[in-house]
Amino acid sequence: MTEPPTALIWFRNDLRIDDQASVLAATRDHRRVIGYTSIPRSWFAAGPLGFPRMDRFRVRFLLESIEDLRNDLAPLNISLVVGFDDDDSLGDVCREHGITDAYLQHEWTRDERNDESRIPEHVRVHRAWDQFLFHPDDIPMEVERVPEVFTQFRKACEKESTVRPCLPTPEPRDPDNLLSDPPPLPTLEELGVSDEAPDPRSVVPFRGGATTGRDRIDHYFWKTRSLSNYKHTRNGLLGEDYSSKFSPWLAIGCLSPRRIYWEVMEYERTVGANQSTYWMVFELLWRDYFKYVSLKHGPDLFRVGGIRRRSYEWSRDTDAFERWTQGRTGEPFVDANMNELRCTGFMSNRGRQNVASYLSKTMGIDWRWGAAYFESLLVDHDVHSNYGNWNYNAGVGNDPRDRVFDVAWQAERYDADGAYRRTWAGPAG
Ligand SMILES: Cc1cc2nc3c(=O)[nH]c(=O)nc-3n(C[C@H](O)[C@H](O)[C@H](O)COP(=O)(O)OP(=O)(O)OC[C@H]3O[C@@H](n4cnc5c(N)ncnc54)[C@H](O)[C@@H]3O)c2cc1C
Repeated sequence: MTEPPTALIWFRNDLRIDDQASVLAATRDHRRVIGYTSIPRSWFAAGPLGFPRMDRFRVRFLLESIEDLRNDLAPLNISLVVGFDDDDSLGDVCREHGITDAYLQHEWTRDERNDESRIPEHVRVHRAWDQFLFHPDDIPMEVERVPEVFTQFRKACEKESTVRPCLPTPEPRDPDNLLSDPPPLPTLEELGVSDEAPDPRSVVPFRGGATTGRDRIDHYFWKTRSLSNYKHTRNGLLGEDYSSKFSPWLAIGCLSPRRIYWEVMEYERTVGANQSTYWMVFELLWRDYFKYVSLKHGPDLFRVGGIRRRSYEWSRDTDAFERWTQGRTGEPFVDANMNELRCTGFMSNRGRQNVASYLSKTMGIDWRWGAAYFESLLVDHDVHSNYGNWNYNAGVGNDPRDRVFDVAWQAERYDADGAYRRTWAGPAG
């Protein structure tokens, strides 16, 4: 029997149903809809620098997010099929279920585009820009003209653009839309990824999924009202609430930036607006900015000369690089931060700036190695934020001042009592 025409929603870095353009468009235009997502299994093996492209923190967070998405789709009577990047599961699903149309988030970086070649040719592809705070059609400039200085970009957006309202969640499909036997989710063990207990020193027990993402907003905004002090605490290093910790959920789209923005607006209306509430939006604009920089500069973001095409000499001393990754540089503040990253998959923004500057400017090591190591471990890895910030900190990107961090001074300023350095003095607490 031939299947009736069916739409596929390919979930990638948009693992949610709330404020989700592809979900809304597919369900609006098609009676039969299937969800699909793919696990990048080929990224779990060690690469040339000795670590995988996606280490255990990210894999675990991804699996949890996929499981939560499947649970959120069930009441809509939409099944989620999970495949792998290194098989033809996408082609199989399209053939087996008579897929005519595929709905997915617009991605522009090389690997994500290559991945799209797995969509069979006969399938019509509908892409949505769904990862931005300010939609690309709404920013007051062409992407090619995005300024090289953040402040100019921010001011133009704040003055001349608006954030779109959140999209509604669709009505449920008929129950016969559900597949009778969707395959089970793989476990970490089946994927060959070690399942270690979280380090008790971890700032937040990060658990993937839109449900925990919404809980985190609830905690940071409404239960603790930490948002009201965010601007004064955001350079912190220890504890759950010095910053929002929204980044892992934003990175793979369990939370939409528009949802956070509109919650900030509601908070300002009901609890009160101040510099801190504004600063949350300011930081979300940094996130947008690096996405626009990535769109504008394309592959230059990943080249050693960066978006400014600088030709510096870089060291490729693997022993020195290993001292950095393993927290053995001899610089206590750098080592503490690297220990935190290695043990938990997270590091504060202050820490990231310091260790990036130290690797690229003080040690002179190819900044792309540092970015690759961050990509492997950071539970919030986002290709544009990571490579954009590394460009910036390594002096090949958007920092007009070309600063070198004095890490000893930074330690005294931000860890005056040494509590952070003591907490992360070694791999075990
Ligand atoms: C070398 C380097 C690499 C980085 N790599 C990543 C990455 O892979 N993924 C990632 O999400 N962030 C990255 N950042 C940016 C920043 O460090 C994290 O977004 C932030 O620490 C996450 O914690 P939070 O959610 O508590 O942030 P908060 O301070 O609560 O900020 C709220 C949100 O604003 C956004 N934001 C804040 N600062 C930045 C920034 N500098 N650049 C872009 N967005 C920002 C994030 O989405 C964040 O969740 C990197 C920074 C540096 C210096």
